[in-house]
Amino acid sequence: MIQNLVRPNIRRLTPYSSARSEFKGKAEVFLDANESPYETGYNRYPDPLQWKLKQAISTLKGIAPEHIFLGNGSDEAIDLLLRIFCEPGADHIITLPPTYGMYRVSADISNVSVKEIPLRPGSFQPDVEAVLAEADAHSKLLFICSPNNPTGNSIRPGLIRELTKGFPGIVVVDEAYIDFSAQESAIHLLPEYPNLVVLQTFSKAWGMAGIRLGMAFASEEIIGYFNKVKPPYNINQLTQEAALKALDKQEAQEAQVKQLLGQRTLLQQYLGGLPFAERIYPSDANFLLVKVEDPTGIYNYLVDRGIIVRDRSRVTLCEGCLRITVGTPEENERLFRALVEFE
Ligand code: PMP
Repeated sequence: MIQNLVRPNIRRLTPYSSARSEFKGKAEVFLDANESPYETGYNRYPDPLQWKLKQAISTLKGIAPEHIFLGNGSDEAIDLLLRIFCEPGADHIITLPPTYGMYRVSADISNVSVKEIPLRPGSFQPDVEAVLAEADAHSKLLFICSPNNPTGNSIRPGLIRELTKGFPGIVVVDEAYIDFSAQESAIHLLPEYPNLVVLQTFSKAWGMAGIRLGMAFASEEIIGYFNKVKPPYNINQLTQEAALKALDKQEAQEAQVKQLLGQRTLLQQYLGGLPFAERIYPSDANFLLVKVEDPTGIYNYLVDRGIIVRDRSRVTLCEGCLRITVGTPEENERLFRALVEFE
């Protein structure tokens, strides 16, 4: 069934076979990969399938390593999904704007068109009927971002289920911000829905945006297609080592998330008290969408004081809005002190 959604050229593809994937036994002398023999700590190619790291992630997430793909950021997983499933010039993806911009950019790069079914104004929940009415055999991917960037809300689990059940293609639930949310991950839905892919990342709650490590969780069949099309050594050695170290200090990550959630509540209260703040949207993420009287004026005012937020005021349904990432207590204090003086 999934196989019928895959582009014929990808189904037929003979993937590149790297030296490290061809030889799996024990050896002492490696003369197979044209590497340098001189030890630098990094003279050997890394494990192409990152089994040690996947094992550690598997333990954390409660899902077998065979159900995990690791990418150079979740952006790589988004790009590969387009290349696996969408025939350029023929297929399309469906997005639910306002949402993360890379779904469209990746589609544009692949010459795949995008059908946009806006979230409902105010609640920012999907219009399930409209999405399913729009879907046909060429609708290969539906991107649901939960918690959603830039609105900050989670998509209701019942709606994610309805969409995944009714959509004829692959449903991608992008959970980049899930660790800041009270809502459960959609990972537990995977055994029930073979057309589901869940994306997460080390860039947010893990504080590792610089190492570029994203995760996709899906059926073994879908993970198999990811592995078929990915560049042979897409996760470098430094990244694999740094992620393993971070996973070893899970308590530190949990403490930081807790601190950020406390700061998010404080910021919500602070910002809510400002005369020019018209609306602070509820957030399940590490940022707040804030509707203000003069977004561009405030944006420029903050830039002059060395503080950068994201101006989302020209995004449909986010008119008048700034997106503010939650920082350290000191950074948030500095933002607030600046805003109090804004006239
Ligand atoms: N998904 C969402 C919703 C995001 O906001 C972002 C980054 N801003 C990403 C994916 C990309 O994450 P990564 O750093 O893992 O590529």
